[in-house]
Amino acid sequence: MSAIVIEQLEKRYGGFTAVDGLSLEVEVGETYALLGPNGAGKTTTIEILEGLRPRSAGSVSVLGLDPGTHKEDLHRRIGVMLQEGGLYPGARVVEMLELFASFHAEPRDVDGLLALVGLTEHRRAIYRKLSGGQKQRLSLAIALVGRPELVFLDEPTAGMDPVARRTTWEIIEALQSEGVTMVLTTHYMEEAERLADRVGIVNRGRLLAEGTPDELTAGGGELRLKATAPFDTRALGTHIGAPVRALGHAAAIVDVEASPEIIAAVAAWAAAHAVHLTEVRVGAAGLEEVFLEIAGDDDA
Ligand code: ATP
Repeated sequence: MSAIVIEQLEKRYGGFTAVDGLSLEVEVGETYALLGPNGAGKTTTIEILEGLRPRSAGSVSVLGLDPGTHKEDLHRRIGVMLQEGGLYPGARVVEMLELFASFHAEPRDVDGLLALVGLTEHRRAIYRKLSGGQKQRLSLAIALVGRPELVFLDEPTAGMDPVARRTTWEIIEALQSEGVTMVLTTHYMEEAERLADRVGIVNRGRLLAEGTPDELTAGGGELRLKATAPFDTRALGTHIGAPVRALGHAAAIVDVEASPEIIAAVAAWAAAHAVHLTEVRVGAAGLEEVFLEIAGDDDA
């Protein structure tokens, strides 16, 4: 069963197309991570799903409702992690949480939520005086207060310290075990790998790749190289007689099954050309490498 169905979604701002024919589905109980470079259209897509922005074309169904026409019904059932602008800068933490709790028939316990997100000692603090990470945690608490079936988390751990980030992941995992559906955006690949059941990589408002983290990172036995400085991948390819693809700064992939001979030939070429390799690795890519390859190719 699908919690979200997006078909050929488009969003134009004047002559600029921010979302360009995006189609995807999110199953009930699933955590779906939208990954993409800055400006890829992730926030625009999420805000259309939340009913906060109108779409230009295409169809969208969220929990069976059209967010364009059933925003109020939808808001009773979803949790939205508002970015800073959505909150009252002069209000106290506990007041804001109580206010949002009052919008729901069966809200979670406010004190319990404050404890969950680690804000108990800041309950009387004025919102604008909170640190960036504390604001994020309050925003998460507000998203959860109405016991939502579906939660939108737009860069939920941006600005958090490593401890707060891990605490947030544990909160998200607890929601997952309760069966809550989640749509997440993040620039932290570790976060997507840990939390997402499926990942969609977007750029320029289009879906470029989709799958479970394992599917996306399943690699052959290609050879992955990193060096201290950029090197001539074309010359290396000619020397070893195999295709070599440059990947970001001073990194490359040798696109054949890595044999001992290939590895020896790469090492010999590097030695002869004073290329200092810092990594020679056979095997699957991490999600970050997959992301760089897919989004990077699209920008090339
Ligand atoms: P980031 O990772 O930086 O948060 P994103 O993937 O969330 O990026 P969006 O915020 O959806 O990207 O923006 C997509 C594109 O649409 C960007 O080029 C942005 O400048 C543009 N855009 C967003 N909102 C508007 C607006 N109200 N008017 C005009 N252009 C906009």
